[in-house]
Amino acid sequence: MPGLRRGLAVAVLLAAAAVAAADVPADVLILSSYRSRVGANARPRLQPHAGVDFALPAGTPVLAGADGEVGMLIDYEPGCGVGVVLLHPGFTRWTVYCHLTRAVVKTRQAVARGERIGFSGASGNSAGVPHVHLEVCTAPCASHRDGDLRGTLDPMALVVGCHDPQRVYPTDRLVLTLPFECGPWSTDAGR
Ligand SMILES: [Zn+2]
Repeated sequence: MPGLRRGLAVAVLLAAAAVAAADVPADVLILSSYRSRVGANARPRLQPHAGVDFALPAGTPVLAGADGEVGMLIDYEPGCGVGVVLLHPGFTRWTVYCHLTRAVVKTRQAVARGERIGFSGASGNSAGVPHVHLEVCTAPCASHRDGDLRGTLDPMALVVGCHDPQRVYPTDRLVLTLPFECGPWSTDAGR
């Protein structure tokens, strides 16, 4: 019954979308989700995407998705461009933020959830579309190219919404807040 199976698959996808929508404000635009074969420029990818791409005007502050330590700074034009890798001790997880104009942290620096780590842009293979690529790795990584999903996880499975300084976040598991301020994040504050 291929029709039924397709129907079930669609239902599962819709359920997943509904869960994600509950965590992510309506004004947050995801250009390319994990495993997507569509690029940030809306053109096809040859291989599935290893992270999630959020549309973000160039110059917007990029924020740490969780407490951690700067594991590495990336400057790799064919891929991530200017990027920051955060290590999250105790969870064996790393988060990567790509296509920045610049980073404002140093290697081994401790960062807190919501702390500014750089500014968004379109460096690297961003297809010329300003966005931030967020990636979750299960081993030290410097971001993965399309199709190389080994050692990566769907970031949106860990995202619990916008960073709220008043909120107490779990410490027994890694949860991520969005790597930019929610609300009027597209204004030019901080540029
Ligand atoms: Zn990406």
